[in-house]
Amino acid sequence: MILPILIYNHPILRKKCIDIKNDYDGLNQLIKNMFDTMYNANGVGLAAPQVGFSINLFIIDLSPFLNDYPDLKTTKKVFINPEIKIEKGEEWQFNEGCLSIPEIREDVTRKSEIKITYFDQNFNMIEESIDGIEARVIQHEYNHLRGVLFIDFLSGARKNVLNRKLKSIMNGKFEKNYPYQLFQK
Ligand code: ZN
Repeated sequence: MILPILIYNHPILRKKCIDIKNDYDGLNQLIKNMFDTMYNANGVGLAAPQVGFSINLFIIDLSPFLNDYPDLKTTKKVFINPEIKIEKGEEWQFNEGCLSIPEIREDVTRKSEIKITYFDQNFNMIEESIDGIEARVIQHEYNHLRGVLFIDFLSGARKNVLNRKLKSIMNGKFEKNYPYQLFQK
């Protein structure tokens, strides 16, 4: 089932998420719905708060990057209760976008390597060192679980330039390519 994606300025996108246990009600169905939702919107990552759940869960599927990054080993993963333990390596820029902030793409600087622990969908505890494009997508999704959005990393000047565009987005003035939900006061 495709779920509506919460759009910028929805307060749930700013809430800190909580850990879940393996008996979380409807977890497998939620994960399936998140994949349906992400594929429908042509995304490569989706965090639970983007569909209204303030829980520490995100998914990725990097298949669309396989042409540019043929070395990618796995593409599709589920991260439950993830914790980035270490971020290191050289800083690099990548042009990021977000399904919750349609029509805006901006270069964001992040470190190139992470060490992360998480549980997979079967609640196996996993510890991994990841770099490159996979680390980049994980860092972006992980931020969502802390209520952080990629535009938070932009300079004040850049944000001023984007301000008007952000206002139209929160008022629903963007091309509607997938089901979405605006914040109604
Ligand atoms: Zn995002």
